[in-house]
Amino acid sequence: MPAKGRGALPLRPFLRLRAAAAPSLAQSKFLPYTVCMCIIDATTRLDGLLARLKAQGLRLTPQRVAIVRELVTRCDHPSVEQLHTAILAEFPTTSLATVYKTIHLLKEQGEVLELGFGELGSRYDGRRPKSHPHLICTGCGAISDPPSQGPELDELVASLAGQSGFAVSAHRFDLFGLCPACRKES
Ligand SMILES: [Zn+2]
Ligand SMILES: [Zn+2]
Repeated sequence: MPAKGRGALPLRPFLRLRAAAAPSLAQSKFLPYTVCMCIIDATTRLDGLLARLKAQGLRLTPQRVAIVRELVTRCDHPSVEQLHTAILAEFPTTSLATVYKTIHLLKEQGEVLELGFGELGSRYDGRRPKSHPHLICTGCGAISDPPSQGPELDELVASLAGQSGFAVSAHRFDLFGLCPACRKES
């Protein structure tokens, strides 16, 4: 049971993130907003994504656009609660259900990557919706993309698919450990 296996890992920060969905979360040191090593141009990605959603005939309310923008412009792989807290600053009447619905819609379009952690909840990557490795800090809960990904992983996936005759549609590669800031503290 993968969920049980992950539960054995020291992932308390995820619990803290879920429990602290209060406005103070924005200032929390557990909001790893500063960890950004990805190379995605958020503006280009956002413009393209909004154009595609519009072309699908989806109604883009100002709240929905704000949620999509938040998802695409931050690279800390936020939870639904974190997104909701951020959106409330601009649209105080936004419900958590609206954020859930928007993420669900983006998932249906293949425009967001969900990283599920069982009972600890999910985190989302709206910048890079295709499978890619993640660095997950068990000290502070930060999730970041590696600065670069060489061709090795793609080659490994292709090789495993070739050996097994398996048509791979997605994969998941999580590296658990301590981020540079937590290593300094420990
Ligand atoms: Zn950390
Ligand atoms: Zn990512």
